[in-house]
Amino acid sequence: MKLKLSTFGERFSRRSGALELMDDLGSALGGDSEALMLGGGNPAKIPAVQRYFSERLGELAADPAEFERMLSNYAHPAGELRFRRAVARLLAERYGWPLTADNVALTAGSQAGFFLLFNMLAGRHSDGTMRRILLPVTPEYVGYANLGLGEGMFTSRRPRIELQGEGFFKYYIDFDSIDCGDDVAAVCVSRPTNPTGNVITDAELEQLDALCRRRGVPLIIDSAYGVPFPGIVFNEAAPLWNDNVVLCMSLSKLGLPAARTGIVVAREEIIESLTGMTAITNLAVGSVGPVLAHSVVASGEIIDLGRRLIAPYYRRKAERACEILQRSLRGLPFRIHRPEGAIFLWLWFPDLPITSAELYRRLKASGLLVLSGHHFFPGLDDDEPWRHRDECLRLSFAQDDEVVDRGVEILAAELERAYSPPARRAAAFRPGE
Ligand code: PLP
Repeated sequence: MKLKLSTFGERFSRRSGALELMDDLGSALGGDSEALMLGGGNPAKIPAVQRYFSERLGELAADPAEFERMLSNYAHPAGELRFRRAVARLLAERYGWPLTADNVALTAGSQAGFFLLFNMLAGRHSDGTMRRILLPVTPEYVGYANLGLGEGMFTSRRPRIELQGEGFFKYYIDFDSIDCGDDVAAVCVSRPTNPTGNVITDAELEQLDALCRRRGVPLIIDSAYGVPFPGIVFNEAAPLWNDNVVLCMSLSKLGLPAARTGIVVAREEIIESLTGMTAITNLAVGSVGPVLAHSVVASGEIIDLGRRLIAPYYRRKAERACEILQRSLRGLPFRIHRPEGAIFLWLWFPDLPITSAELYRRLKASGLLVLSGHHFFPGLDDDEPWRHRDECLRLSFAQDDEVVDRGVEILAAELERAYSPPARRAAAFRPGE
């Protein structure tokens, strides 16, 4: 007999973009698939970073007090206290932000943090009103899309698109389209943005901050790739915090995704609510990440590591991937979003004769895993025709260069076929597939 699921069960077990991605990633890494994996959000294995954490892990395992802290005790529901103190001290010293450990909560990865934050602020309220999370610029992170306990968690906006030289383009927030009304519970933006590698400018961030403070709604900055750490930003970008900002960071893109450590920096009232929610759902958050990363946070090295090692590493890979694409796809109509940070390239194929979902399927059948761009528009009205969202792909450049090169070859061959008349053009364009 078929299992009877609750509304919650149905909602949270359905096929989502995040599941498609993690499924592909799990199969590729589990050895079930020979496919080239340019779809996932796994960070690169940067040798110097791997070596550092491997040696540190050895030292901690040999130290009985640290071993106990890491594995033998439940932490506080807000997360391991020594680590939270170190995070607060570092940010206070570097940026002058008035923080203590009471402004810091840890979550089981920042993904879990977004689940708690979004549902804490948005959704049905006790006065009967419905409030949403405003995503001021899409494309935006696929992982937000299904986090709402109910329908209609997001309202989002299209970007302003600037075409740039040499086949690049860039998205900007279209402030004319943003009316932060009473139905908005919070504004959220990833910086750098997954999937596009866009880093919204300091001026855009300041304008959002001013808007949020005026309207009395929190501004959630998803800094999973950003500043202060891990700092995968290729130009200068100033970090921002004040008591209306909820700054979300993570140890994942530093190279520790399996440690599942998300870090939320916010005013105490928000931290207290998160702590209560963690106590109910998890009792406590794991301490492996916090103990492992404590010394790099306490010394401040975590910020310098990003600037000195991690950002330059990804910048080189981004530049290399752009060169390969521009060489291999020469003559085909395509543009790359200017890579300003994170670990992805966002490709736009104007007037693509098939949808990006169909292109994803064809690439998968040819042995290349990418992500179809249509997943990355959470909260945009599906009925609103906008062909752009079926014309883009996200490609990770964090893998070995050889994998990227072979992946681009497959992509070039499939695109040749898709664009070439007449047989393939007959495959009808079906938006929103
Ligand atoms: N935010 C963004 C923009 C991401 O790309 C990711 C993961 O890829 C996350 C949040 C969640 O990361 P984690 O839960 O590993 O901290």
